[in-house]
Amino acid sequence: MKIEHLGIAVKSLQKSDELFAKLLGKENYKQESVEREGVTTSFYELGDSKIELLEAANPESPIAKFLDKRGEGIHHVAFGVENIGAEIERLKAAGFQFLSEEPKDGADNKLIIFLHPKSTNGILVELCQEKP
Ligand code: ZN
Repeated sequence: MKIEHLGIAVKSLQKSDELFAKLLGKENYKQESVEREGVTTSFYELGDSKIELLEAANPESPIAKFLDKRGEGIHHVAFGVENIGAEIERLKAAGFQFLSEEPKDGADNKLIIFLHPKSTNGILVELCQEKP
């Protein structure tokens, strides 16, 4: 595993894109909506890892709920894996809980699944694998 990206919840992608472009000294390399998840994302390359800014696309979005409860900030840590199916099996056998049964399509050409924060010290952990 490696840290593939950090997900950061933001109120305004427009404002935060300006801020992160200034902070990182480079523009985002893509902006992408994932309608099923109710999010609009913006990605920055940072060495081998990335920063993913997440804006709520509608009031029902999990990001909207997160912002209401916790405000802006780090939303999840994503671990990049080679074989997401094998990692899910390994982690289930080790007693970890997941937020869904199966991986699904995420942003940036990835298969993704989230672990339940209750089983990971309160941190929302995403596993992601590059789609073949
Ligand atoms: Zn993510």
